[in-house]
Order: sequence, then structure tokens, then C-alpha cells
Amino acid sequence: MAAFQIELKHLERNPVEKDFRPSAEALKALFDDISDDFRLTNFDGFQAKVRAQMSDSTVHINGEAKAQFEYKCGRCLDAQRFDIDTEIDFVLMSEAVWSSSYAGHEEIELSEADLDVNFYTGDSVDIGELIREAILLQLPAFPRCPSDISDKCDARYNERIGTEALEVLEQNSLDLRMSAFRQLEIAEDGKLRKKGNGKKSD
Ligand SMILES: [Zn+2]
Repeated sequence: MAAFQIELKHLERNPVEKDFRPSAEALKALFDDISDDFRLTNFDGFQAKVRAQMSDSTVHINGEAKAQFEYKCGRCLDAQRFDIDTEIDFVLMSEAVWSSSYAGHEEIELSEADLDVNFYTGDSVDIGELIREAILLQLPAFPRCPSDISDKCDARYNERIGTEALEVLEQNSLDLRMSAFRQLEIAEDGKLRKKGNGKKSD
């Protein structure tokens, strides 16, 4: 995701401020996998404003990210908007420096996940994934209407459940009518009659 790239040579002397405004294509690619639940909207309003600084080989990035999402309330199915305005704060370590410091130390077998540290390789850092993670952490696990309209949400939910219940009832009554037909059989004289009402030969 080159849309969030910072060249390290720019950081060598002074901190660098970046105002990332990625293209709609880059943003769609970044958030595509969650678009069934939360759809990024207002691409022009997306913003990641960061300050990057380097001490020795470690890069420290802080700032803020803004994004707008649309989602469907899991209860009443109404469309809602969710605005994110979150702080960004993370550290990236040089993978080369890290591995040369700890090369040969077999007892240290810590992975990136164990340490919650991010690494960079080469002469630039790409913070697209880290910004994405910071934003995803802000999204609600169970998308619902905002609490200030919970009455409306409840009403809509009951209305929807009522309609669904009615549909189920209609479906069942249809089955009941069909079951009345299933109790009929064609008699020897070609007329319909109820099963079991005919003369039995035994
Ligand atoms: Zn709702």
C-alpha cells in the first residue's frame, strides 16, 4: 500500500509530518474485506495525519486518523453511519537491526505477534496496515443503532419481527390447507374422499 509510505531518509535529521489522503481505489482495497459489515464511505473525508520521527533505527509514528463508515444495524436493519476519529501511536523497528542484535540467541524466539512490535525493512516504512488496524479497533463488534435512538430501533425491530412472524403464520396456514388435501384420496369411483372413510376389505 504505497499510499501510506514514508521515506526514511526524510526522517534522518528532523521529524516529518504527513497528511495522507489516499485515492478512493487505495482506500477501497484497504477496507474491502470488511465491506460486508462496514462500508467505507466519503473517501474524500478520509484522513491520516501523522508525525514520524526516528531515533537510532526506531521509527515512532503518532497522529490521528479519520474515516466514515456505513453499516446496517443488526437489530432493526436501518442504515447508520459511524465516524471514526482516532489517535495513532506506534513504533516500528528495523528488522535488520533487530535480527543482528539477537542473532544466535536461540533462547529468544519471540515473534512479532508476541512482542506487539512492528518491523520495517528497507529504506521506507508503509503504515497502511497499521492505520487500518487502528481504525478497525474503533469499529463496534456488534453494529447497532446509536443509543440515543434506541426507542426508534426497538420499534423498527418489533415491526420487522412482527412482519416476519406474520409471514411464518401465513406459510403455516398454507401448509395446513395443503395437509387437508393430503388427507384425501381418490376412491375407486374416481371421487375424492377422506382417507379411512372408505369400506375396508378386511
Ligand atoms: Zn437499529
